[in-house]
Amino acid sequence: RQLRNAFVATRPPGHHASSNHAMGFCPVNHVAIAARFLQESGLAPRVAIVDWDVHHGNGTQDIFYQDGSVYYLSLHQYPFYPGTGAAQERGAGEGEGTTLNVPLPAGTGGPEYVDLFAEAIGRVDAEFAPDFVLVSAGYDTLAGDPLGGLRLEPSDFTALTGIVRGWADRACDGRVVAVLEGGYHPERTGQAAVATILALAES
Ligand code: ZN
Repeated sequence: RQLRNAFVATRPPGHHASSNHAMGFCPVNHVAIAARFLQESGLAPRVAIVDWDVHHGNGTQDIFYQDGSVYYLSLHQYPFYPGTGAAQERGAGEGEGTTLNVPLPAGTGGPEYVDLFAEAIGRVDAEFAPDFVLVSAGYDTLAGDPLGGLRLEPSDFTALTGIVRGWADRACDGRVVAVLEGGYHPERTGQAAVATILALAES
């Protein structure tokens, strides 16, 4: 318990991988494995996964779609690869209501994204009390990314990380682990990752 949060600079990304197949540069789903580890080790029965990669994390959604113990929130460009992530996809069975998708048109900029992100976190907060928050931290949302079509700046990740931390501080003692997903402009991905780490490290 010496550290409240962490940033995992792993590659390749993971959020397109489902439980039984690789997809979209993703051999295995790191955040899904982390969520199950937290649950099975008794560290955190209820886990929230927040995905700010430009793509919808179809693998993560699929793995937890019928599971009410893991909440999956994604903001993503839509329609776009991999084609999933419509607003009406909200989970099924025991997982009904613990999936939340916020599809965004190409060209969405930082200020608007940050507002919608804060609003979405507010919705999750009203519906779910996590014991741990995992972030699928993709940086292909940045303007200039060769794959993505949104227009965030590295400094926007200071705000996004602050919103996640504020929620985690209230909900679960600030326990947050951010795991690198996509991001294909190396220099700007680095700047945004540093902004995230600094916002996590701020006491
Ligand atoms: Zn991506």
